[in-house]
Amino acid sequence: MKKIQFGTVPERLDRNRYETDVEQSHIQIDQQAAAATGAGLLLVRVCPAHVYSQQSDGTIGVLYAACLECGSCLAVAPPGVLSWHYPRGGRGVIFREG
Ligand code: SF4
Repeated sequence: MKKIQFGTVPERLDRNRYETDVEQSHIQIDQQAAAATGAGLLLVRVCPAHVYSQQSDGTIGVLYAACLECGSCLAVAPPGVLSWHYPRGGRGVIFREG
């Protein structure tokens, strides 16, 4: 019987492929709403792919190409902070496992 090798989470995530939509981000942040609600740091903490980052000017950066489309940010963002939809035309993450 063949032994299955699972590897670590980073190793498994590294097997994914990404078809990035270079013309349009599928994630937009209302920076004023994020600052007013404190949601920016919540997004930084909750995203497993480190899509969100706090910039030196206090705004929240979005590295949308790394998105795993898990929906965690949508679950925690207060109304009006985040605009999120799936990437256009089948682009985005292509899972190799799981
Ligand atoms: S959907 Fe998941 S991976 Fe994508 S930005 Fe939101 S929390 Fe991060």
